[in-house]
Amino acid sequence: MDFVHAQLAAIQSHLAFVSVDPIDWKTYVQAFSWAVCLFESYLIVTFSLRQYPLYNKKAPPPALAAHFTDEVFAKSQTYGKDKAKFSLFAGLYKQAVDSLLLHIGVYAWAWSAGGRVLRFFGYGSEYEILQSIAFTFILFFVSSIPTLPLSVYQTFVLEEKHGFNKTTPGLFVVDLFKGWAIGIVIAPPFLSAFLYVFKWAGDRFVPWLMAFLLAFQLIMVVIYPTIIQPLFNKLSPLVDGELRSRIEALASKLKFPLKHLYEIDGSKRSSHSNAYFYGLPWSKHIVIFDTLIKQSKPDEVEAVLAHELGHWYYLHPTKMLLVSQLHLFSILALFPAFLHAPPVLRVFDFPADVAARPPTIVAFLLFQMIISPLESVVGIAMNAVSRRFEYQADQFACELQHMLKAEDMADMGDRLGRALVALHVKNLSTVWVDWLYSAYHHSHPTLTERLKALEGFKARSIAITKKEL
Ligand SMILES: [Zn+2]
Repeated sequence: MDFVHAQLAAIQSHLAFVSVDPIDWKTYVQAFSWAVCLFESYLIVTFSLRQYPLYNKKAPPPALAAHFTDEVFAKSQTYGKDKAKFSLFAGLYKQAVDSLLLHIGVYAWAWSAGGRVLRFFGYGSEYEILQSIAFTFILFFVSSIPTLPLSVYQTFVLEEKHGFNKTTPGLFVVDLFKGWAIGIVIAPPFLSAFLYVFKWAGDRFVPWLMAFLLAFQLIMVVIYPTIIQPLFNKLSPLVDGELRSRIEALASKLKFPLKHLYEIDGSKRSSHSNAYFYGLPWSKHIVIFDTLIKQSKPDEVEAVLAHELGHWYYLHPTKMLLVSQLHLFSILALFPAFLHAPPVLRVFDFPADVAARPPTIVAFLLFQMIISPLESVVGIAMNAVSRRFEYQADQFACELQHMLKAEDMADMGDRLGRALVALHVKNLSTVWVDWLYSAYHHSHPTLTERLKALEGFKARSIAITKKEL
């Protein structure tokens, strides 16, 4: 542990200038966030040589031509175009709001507003954790309310127009309040514990904070599906029948610790479809959307599950967790330099008396804004890792027949391909995608890429079969 602390101290001494030099971080954050926003807009439209003409293509890629009728293809093109226009507008609007709030010094204002709330209840500024909680809530509402019209538009105009919306205005409002209520229940204890670790561990907070955040994530793995998800959706045990017995047989052959198998009423809000698993290593739950069950045959849904179990077999979620811990560690290693840095708070409009002893939560939020360029790069790298995992899981499904010595699984690749195509057709997903746009935004390979890779996996699988004979 001392070695780690020595390394962290070395990093901190390199960054010592942060706590003394008056650097114009605010202008830098403004400039960088605008640059990212304009780059994203450029990806969507301005680069009209890229994304936009793709939406004007009159026919799907040759590999998909057999699966898309002209009508479905035309529909997916209009949907794609409408979504592109919306995300262009939404991106610019959100950036304008954030930029304006930053310009008028919203962080400093929210901190002092939090102080006033505390004084109203008879507490002084010595209650830093209480003021931090008030500050966080004020900041959250001030910055999220302006974007509310965007989600209303997206749900009731955009998705509605293309026939995906199943939400009613009543349900929308109830969902919104439920989301806020959950935040009000979870955020205060989380923030209190988070800030308490800093106070308690002092300059040696890094390993302790990581242990705390890891514990919190594990608690959420248990709480989210058992307590939070049921507040929004109804999970009912999958009915007995072909699908259930197929999945149970697959799980037991792979020794997947399947505890519960659920069907979720995803169709209550949207007709987009999906399947996933979750849980602790010794007790897993599989959840399948009712929409997926409706649109695909049992043997195709089984293939989708074979892909999901591929993620489990190769420990993809655990690997992602490790990568995110590493990411977290590198962020926290840089943070001490910003923890006691009055000039940083001054440049974000905080008064001298607050800046002299920076509140931890404020220092942390400003630090996060400052390192956001690094975060964009990390995001692209994470997408690349996640796309690799998708291919690996597809290959797993294709080659399952050899591992399980099950001849009836020889067509798993075909079934998976059919399910993927059905999923895209029903979701009217865009089939023509630009590589740069894809690298930046997509955590999954595109349908065309996946079908092409599936062909390769299938050929490999047939070759293995021949060798076995
Ligand atoms: Zn996957």
